[in-house]
Amino acid sequence: MKLYLASNNEHKRKEFREFFKDYEIVLPKDEGLDFDPEETGSTFIENALIKAEALYALVHKPCIADDSGLCVKAFGGKPGIHTARYGEEGGKKLNDREKYELLLKNMEGIEDRSAEFVCTMVLIVDEHNKYVVEKSCRGHIVEKAEGSHGFGYDPVFFNEEAMDVSANLTIEEKNTYSHRAKAAFQMNSILEKEKERICSEMSRK
Ligand code: IMP
Repeated sequence: MKLYLASNNEHKRKEFREFFKDYEIVLPKDEGLDFDPEETGSTFIENALIKAEALYALVHKPCIADDSGLCVKAFGGKPGIHTARYGEEGGKKLNDREKYELLLKNMEGIEDRSAEFVCTMVLIVDEHNKYVVEKSCRGHIVEKAEGSHGFGYDPVFFNEEAMDVSANLTIEEKNTYSHRAKAAFQMNSILEKEKERICSEMSRK
């Protein structure tokens, strides 16, 4: 069964292939579709919905979208939905390392370093069956970056469940403890139930 992913990012395709092993993950660009919806929402859920609905309007087949980010307690939950563009105000471009170094600098002297990664996934099976799952993983921002795995803010995020900095985790560990892995796990069981529902509806026709 095909699952259309509301992204044109190959890294995300790889991750989703791991999470949704029973499905063929199709990106809009695979079908020559021009897909770049503006993420104008003010929450993870709104942005994930915008992406999933924009893709569903193009393909009318099951679509999945996600939106995620890092919420730092001392910053009132920021950067949140703006995590990917942290520090890029005014058109500046920063790489992953520059972004987490800026975060460490902005957190100098802050005692409560609690933070969480949040991931919202939206699945649209059809007009009448839409699902939203939001999962997070708790942790804190370390004082000094470490580790060489992962991406983004992994070198500065201590995952409290894994009891280690995310960039020290193997892919298998990350795929157990990450916010995205948890959301995907839940989505897989929703997909299973949806498959059963679709099969039983078809057998009744
Ligand atoms: P996206 O919505 O999945 O593209 O995530 C937004 C941003 O959050 C990314 O560009 C990363 O900087 C950051 N991010 C999301 N998930 C992770 C993670 O698992 N590790 C590190 N950074 C992450």
